[in-house]
Amino acid sequence: MSEKFDIPFKSKVVPAVLEEGARIRFRCHKEISCFNACCRNADITLTPYDVIRLKQRLGLGSAEVLREHSLPFEMDNHGLPGIKMKTSDSGACLFMREGEGCSVYEDRPTACRYYPIAMLAMKPSDEPTERHAYSLVREAHCKGHEESAEQTVEEYRRAQGVAEYDEINRDFYQLILKKKSTGPAVGRPSETSLQLFFMACYDIDRFKTFALSPSFRASYKLDPSVFEQIEIDDTFALQFSMAFLKQVLFGEKTIAEQEGAWEKRVAERKEIWELRRQAEIARAEQKKEELMREVES
Ligand code: SF4
Ligand code: SF4
Repeated sequence: MSEKFDIPFKSKVVPAVLEEGARIRFRCHKEISCFNACCRNADITLTPYDVIRLKQRLGLGSAEVLREHSLPFEMDNHGLPGIKMKTSDSGACLFMREGEGCSVYEDRPTACRYYPIAMLAMKPSDEPTERHAYSLVREAHCKGHEESAEQTVEEYRRAQGVAEYDEINRDFYQLILKKKSTGPAVGRPSETSLQLFFMACYDIDRFKTFALSPSFRASYKLDPSVFEQIEIDDTFALQFSMAFLKQVLFGEKTIAEQEGAWEKRVAERKEIWELRRQAEIARAEQKKEELMREVES
């Protein structure tokens, strides 16, 4: 059995699976009669690298991009957090300019680059790595399929510049496939794990603050240059955050931990629990005393 995950475009149409060398007939251009039709009804799932490209393009922080340009959704029935591009009430992409096209074209998300191709990531259970295949999505409004230009899937991917996006998002796709392959028996991850997943995938500024904090530095044995890179390079920080997620969620140890860090964290948590417990007892006793005083008076 294999686990399959459609990246990044979802369609109600179920098309045939294509390899990279398959030839497709398609061309999109400004003079075509349907120009912008796809952006008027946009259902775009954003990847972690899409958020970084948009934040850099717009000169915003990751929290602002998430707030102003995305909406959360659940990628599976265990609440794995995903984000979609925010649209107008009519469903149009907020970056679309009538008659002009995409206002963030050079930094448009992965799904926009791929369209009308969908990438399928598959992880056969008897193979060590995932496999990729593609499919061509045909929607009635899209007239690009009536054009005569032909190319292979690989040529189309190259022309759209998706290789860089796929490379940087590869660990994210692997994480999702891993989560899928753990199956329903494992159950819903804890709320803390889901929040950590969201932060590490999409809110890169917050992840950077977390990774540069004294307690993180005290927990992991890393060369100072790694912290410097995390601070100045969002893409590096994202790749680090994916390695961190694989480590904490799936036990794939690639980041060396400081000796005794785990025990120290457990001890600190125990201390916090103990302090909370004592505070609860003190509060309960105070309430009891107040009640007694009320009864006596
Ligand atoms: S980001 Fe650009 S290409 Fe993608 S849906 Fe919006 S306007 Fe269209
Ligand atoms: S040809 Fe297809 S992809 Fe291009 S603008 Fe028209 S609907 Fe969008």
